[in-house]
Amino acid sequence: MDKKLLTIIVPCYNEEESLPIFYQTIRDMEKEDKLSSVDLEFVFVDDGSRDKTLEVCRNLHSQDERVHFVSFSRNFGKEAGIYAGLEKSKGDYVVIMDADLQDPPAMLPEMLTYIESGKYECVATRRVDRKGEPPIRSWFARKFYKLMNKISSADIVDGARDYQMMTRKVADAILSMKEYNRFSKGIFGWVGFKRKWLEFENVERVAGETKWSFWKLFIYAIEGIVAFSTAPLIMASIFGMIMCLVAFIFIIVIIVRTLTFGDPTNGWPSMVCIILLVSGIQLLCMGVLGEYLAKAYLETKNRPIYLVQEEE
Ligand code: UDP
Ligand code: MG
Repeated sequence: MDKKLLTIIVPCYNEEESLPIFYQTIRDMEKEDKLSSVDLEFVFVDDGSRDKTLEVCRNLHSQDERVHFVSFSRNFGKEAGIYAGLEKSKGDYVVIMDADLQDPPAMLPEMLTYIESGKYECVATRRVDRKGEPPIRSWFARKFYKLMNKISSADIVDGARDYQMMTRKVADAILSMKEYNRFSKGIFGWVGFKRKWLEFENVERVAGETKWSFWKLFIYAIEGIVAFSTAPLIMASIFGMIMCLVAFIFIIVIIVRTLTFGDPTNGWPSMVCIILLVSGIQLLCMGVLGEYLAKAYLETKNRPIYLVQEEE
């Protein structure tokens, strides 16, 4: 029987130091016969790096014909990188990995056995801890996952990594979702399929540094919510209804008070408070609306998810 082909997709942004180490680690595993049940193919996606990542890709390609790469015209983000990698992959199985070895390659053989057993279409991984991460970031992350699962139909697991192995079927399903605003954790959860979860402990990156600042993560979280839930819109309507109800009760109270006690001119401070509160809520709701409108606007433009500068 022919061996199946496994494509390893690696989105890389400024990973000139990590990428060679990553490649070598996989090669070492091959030499130790840990991946002998499949043929390998590499797809490195250079996400508009400013360092020598592209040169590293070219070098690896000239040494090893199983290495392919796509280089973007600018930085399009990891999500676009994953999409490009999936499009370029030819494997029967596909696995997405970070270049910094934070997704332990040692798990690959185990993932393969699950996929090869035919019982699962997808083997996903999650970190059980967040060692080495600022506590405040971990706290926000946990709250985000809690909230997300309440308000969205996509199954989004706390600590889930993009590190997952899937069959062609799942890869094609993900490719069929051509949206521009790609929140991959949501997309993976949304497509469904039989999925096996493996757990591992957090590993620090081998070289280089993380591309995620707290602020970037915060924006990412908001994008995730907007992409996979319309709950904030409903919340805006509910806010509106509550305010109407309160206003109605107030009107009755004021009418009754005026009829019984006459109309002394006071209540100015409370008036200011009410105006501020209501206009604040109105602005907030408009902001929520605007967020969705902006996303819809970008989607209707039908822009490509990424642009290629060089590919091999
Ligand atoms: N990455 C990317 N484009 C970006 C940011 C990150 O392709 O705009 C890649 C990066 O090279 C790495 C992976 O996504 O392979 C994860 O990034 P990072 O390690 O910085 O994130 P963290 O592990 O800290 O969440
Ligand atoms: Mg990392």
